[in-house]
Formats: sequence, structure tokens, C-alpha cells
Amino acid sequence: MVRELAEKTTIDVLLQEKRVFHPSKDMVNSSNVKKWMDEHGIKTYDELLERAKDIEWFWGEVPKEVVEWYEPPKKVLEWNEPYAKWYLGAKYNIVHDAVDKHVKTWRKNKLAFIWEGEPGEVRKLTYFDLYKQVNRLANALKALGIGKGDVVGIYLPMVLELPISMLACAKIGAIHSVVFSGFSAGGLQQRLQDCEAKVLITCDGLYRRGQVVPLKEQADEAIEKAPNVKKVIVSERTKYPISWTEGRDLWWHEFVDKQSPKCETERLDANDILYILYTSGTTGKPKGVVHAHGGYAVGTALTVKWVFDIKDEDIWWCSADIGWVTGHSYIVYAPLILGATSVMYEGAPDHPQPDRWWEIGEKYGVTIFYTAPTAIRMHMRYGEKWVYKHDLSSLRLLGTVGEAINPEAWMWYHKHVGKERCPIMDTWWQTETGSFVISPLPITPLKPGSATRPLPGFSAGVFDEKGNVVKEGGGDLYLPNPWPAMLRGLYKAPERYKTTYWSRLPHMYLAGDKVRKDEDGYFWIQGRADDILKVAGHRIGNYEVESALVSHPKVAEAVVIGKPHPIKGESIVAFVVLKEGLKPSDELRKELREHVAKEMGKIARPSEVWFVKDVPKTRSGKIMRRLVRAKVLGEKLGDISTLKNPEAIDDITYAV
Ligand code: ATP
Ligand code: MG
Repeated sequence: MVRELAEKTTIDVLLQEKRVFHPSKDMVNSSNVKKWMDEHGIKTYDELLERAKDIEWFWGEVPKEVVEWYEPPKKVLEWNEPYAKWYLGAKYNIVHDAVDKHVKTWRKNKLAFIWEGEPGEVRKLTYFDLYKQVNRLANALKALGIGKGDVVGIYLPMVLELPISMLACAKIGAIHSVVFSGFSAGGLQQRLQDCEAKVLITCDGLYRRGQVVPLKEQADEAIEKAPNVKKVIVSERTKYPISWTEGRDLWWHEFVDKQSPKCETERLDANDILYILYTSGTTGKPKGVVHAHGGYAVGTALTVKWVFDIKDEDIWWCSADIGWVTGHSYIVYAPLILGATSVMYEGAPDHPQPDRWWEIGEKYGVTIFYTAPTAIRMHMRYGEKWVYKHDLSSLRLLGTVGEAINPEAWMWYHKHVGKERCPIMDTWWQTETGSFVISPLPITPLKPGSATRPLPGFSAGVFDEKGNVVKEGGGDLYLPNPWPAMLRGLYKAPERYKTTYWSRLPHMYLAGDKVRKDEDGYFWIQGRADDILKVAGHRIGNYEVESALVSHPKVAEAVVIGKPHPIKGESIVAFVVLKEGLKPSDELRKELREHVAKEMGKIARPSEVWFVKDVPKTRSGKIMRRLVRAKVLGEKLGDISTLKNPEAIDDITYAV
């Protein structure tokens, strides 16, 4: 039973009362996962988890739920640590599932995407439209000499040409590497060179907060120092004036549109490479994560079918940018494999007003909405009045990814967006994992702030430094068994692949996150392994102190770091962003310190609290603690190319 919510909830109340949210009977009984369990004579979720421990059985059984092979696999898994091959012997191409197969069914004229530009234009693309556009671009790429194994760089904003480009590459066996359009020339150049792209697909510019951001200009500058790029296909989005290099640059509307709308899909091996994608760079130099067709298709499509329970009638909206793995897996590949209709929005979530997202949700009758804690906190800061301007009654499921969600933000999302009806799927995963790993299903009782338990077929566990299993308590997150959507390595960096993930404890994938397991076996992600404060012999997650601060009604965001202290080891320094219209004061500073002490114990009371306008974040929206720490300690900032708001770092100076 969902209880009446108090006006102000605190982490204390939530956790001490051990509040658990149970899904409704209807939700459980109509769910995709329940149907599968019934078909397999499995009665409870625990039984499903138990059965799925036989990973070769489980992952051998589920592909028929989601994919169609050209030729079926002869073997489910070959594990040559640290390299896995899945579905050996299968002939496959993910584009067959994402596009081709639908054109032969009633879904041919179903909408694959409903796209809305920031200025308000709407484009609707059916599966048949998508099929023809993908084929045209695939033929264009072939005409440029691109074929199996060649790398194509894609530097596009949230326009339909982005999924079309990815699918066109995959169709002919080329490898795509998408670079988030928020990167400037330097970030793009570094990635284009690292992945050795031969062709780049970009556009003239993009719309952001009512302004045109020139993109081709950045691309030109990047390619000057990345001579491996020989041809550039330019899509027209804004008509912003651009410079042109004859012999290298080609207009999409001239060169691509004249190609044939028919193109054979390359029959690949299920283990051929699909894409390279660079991680967010929260912890250091970005890593070129490699994913392959077959296992990735099965892993992403099954997880979204079960976790988000997508059915043909749903309108799915994942608000991530396709430039990150969330968009790759859960805007492009998995929803298309399932034949779903997705909403795709180009612009800023608060433009022209803070209710833009809620307006879109109402307009298209979105039923499942998936976003990030950073976005939820932003909307909390604007206030729930913006949500209530719109009818969001079509929603039935919500989700989050990217960081641990503060219980306070969870409750806000649950109460004001989901109207206490919609379960929240808190999905833990990484660029490297390709698909969700730890996440509830719509049949799972939820605890705000916990991603619950590893999904069936995944072996995530908590281990101490010596490699002992932690049944209850804190430790490092590891994945002892391989899984289908797992990375196949780091591009051109086999040593880094081994040392980063496979060298701490033997035979296990090190995720790099700290986690706590409670008495019910629920996982509470505490943040990155290197984001742990050591205060007077205690280990406290920076995230936990931040969460305590965010649970104060006046606080919108917070970042916390440790500063060396001669006696305590580290003292806690907090930077706090207040909610709209509130003024900093010494009293408030005191109040916040006491609030943390009350929530978490005196040991966690920050020694210093500073008020700032914004906290530094990665372009993927994660708080960049390492930069705040470096700034406070007067150390070198290092690579800041993944930073979204460099001015926030300057702000830290004034505060100190
Ligand atoms: P880099 O590896 O370059 O530092 P990154 O780790 O930020 O970048 P991603 O792969 O986009 O790049 O992010 C994965 C990380 O995001 C996870 O390791 C975890 O720290 C965090 N994360 C993602 N989802 C969740 C979640 N639901 N709960 C808690 N943390 C999450
Ligand atoms: Mg990472």
C-alpha cells in the first residue's frame, strides 16, 4: 500500500520506516515478465532469479522473445576471460530486427519516432519511412567506399538523422562512433582520431534554448587535425551559414536523397562489432567501449521489454541524448527491435518554459518515461507547479539512470510526476554493460533510492577487498559472470581493458562503483569507488552527504568533497545550490550543517558549506567531483573537455 505522503519527507523517515512501494496486482499480472514466467512454469521472482543463474540456459532461451537470427546460434557462450563471445555461429544483423522485420508486418506503417524540434516542428517517421531512409544512407555510404569494419563518425544533435545514420552504418556492417553534439572541436577531434573514422556525418547547426549552435564549424576545426576523415555528409537543420570544402563535403539532401531506397542488409556474424562509444569521462580519460551486434541486441531488447514492460500500445520516451549509451540502447536499438513508438525531443527541457517536458508528455500521451536524477532535481528546483499545468495521466511507468537517485528526488518524481501510481525503475548500468544490470521489474517492491536487485541472468555482487562475498553491508560492485550486452573490449586498448576491469579480483568484472546491500539483498549504489570520504576512520560516500543536503527543503543540488585534515583524515566541504528565489545566509549555512548531522550523524557534518549558482557536471549530467576536489586543493584540473558548465568551476573559486 502506498501511504499518504507527508509534505516534507526526509531520507531519515524513508529509510527508518523502511518504506516499500508495492506494484499493483494489475501491473504485475499484465507484465511481460509475468507472462514469460507463466509460460515457463515459474511462480515467483525469486524462483526466476534462481533458474536464471544457469546463464547459458537463460540467455539461450530468451532470444526468441526479442530477436530473429538469419541463422541460429550453435553455442550460447564462449568465455575466454576477459573476452566473451555470445551466440556463436549465428548469422545476424541488428538492423534486421530494428527495421527490416517490421516492414513485413502490420508495423510497417506504425510510428517508430515522433520527433519534436525545439522551435516546435513535429516530424513523424513510420517504420517504412525509417527503412527507406536507412537504405538511402546505407547506399550513400557504400558509394563512398564504406563497407564492413570501416568506422564512421557521427556528430549530430537529437534529430532523426542520428538514428538513421547509426542504422545505416550497422546495415552495411560499418562501425559507428557517435560523438555527443555538446562536445566542441577538441573533444570531437580526439574521438575521431582515436576511432580512425573515415567519414563523418554531421549537420549545419542545432537549436538550444532558442539559439543556433553551429556544429559544422566545430566539425571543420576537428577534421583539420583529424585527417583520417575523408568525406563529410552534412544534413541541413538550421540553415545556419557554413563553410564548405569542395570534394570533401556532401549535402545529405543532394547526395543521400538521390540514392535508391533499397539496400540489402549485410549478413554478419553475431559477434561482429556494432559500435564504439566513449564513456562520459567522469573519472578520467574517456574509454572507447566496443559493442557487438547479437548479444547487445538480445540484452538491450530483453531488459527494456521486461523492465519497462513495453507493449505495442505504449508511447515510450527516453529523454537521454543519443550521444550517450542510454540513447544508443534505449532510444535507438531496443525500442526499435520491439517495434515501439518513441518520442524524441531535440532541445532543452526548460525551453521556452520549465514545463516543456510535461507539455510534450501530455501532447503525445507518453506512457513510459525514462530520465536522469539530474533532470529530476532541475525540475524540483523549478517547482511542481509546472508539472500540474499538464495532464500526465497516460503515464504508467517511470525510470531513472545515470546516478544514484536521491530518495528525496525519487519521492518528488513519484508524487508529482507519477501521481503515486507509477512504479519507478531505477536502472543501474554503464556504457560498458550495454544494458541494465541492476534494476527492478514492474513486479518488484521498490525502496526509494535503491536500484533493487540484479536482473535475472546477471550476476552482480558485493565483494570486500579480499574477494569475500558481502551478504549484507558495503563493498565493491563486481559482475562475476559475462552477460550478452557486455563490452567486447576497449578500442585499440587491450591493456587498459584488462587493468581497468579485470585485474582487481580474479575472474570478475570490476564496475568501479561502491555499493551497500541491505538485509533484503537490495543494492544501494553509493557512488564511484574514488568518491568515498574518509572521516575519522569512517567511510562515507560523497553521494550520501549530497543526498542528505538535497533532502533539506531549501536545497536543489549539492556537491561534496573531502579536504585533507591533519586529525580527521578528511574534512567535508559542501557546495550547495539553493532552490529558485532563495538567498544564502550564515544561518542557513549553520542549518544545513546541522541538518546533515541530524540525518547522518555528527561524523558527516560538513566543516564548510558554500553557496554556488551551479555544480560542475559532465555533458552527460553527472556531478564532477574530481574537478571540484582539484579546484579546492589547488591541483591541476586535467581534462575538462567532458565538462558541460565550466563556469561552475570558476564559481568554486569565489566560494573558497
Ligand atoms: P567514465 O567511465 O568515463 O568515468 P561514466 O562512468 O560517467 O564515465 P557512464 O558509463 O555513462 O560513464 O556511466 C556509468 C556510471 O553511472 C555507473 O558506473 C554509475 O556510477 C553511474 N550510474 C548509472 N546508473 C546509475 C544508477 N541507477 N544508480 C547509481 N549510479 C548509476
Ligand atoms: Mg564509468
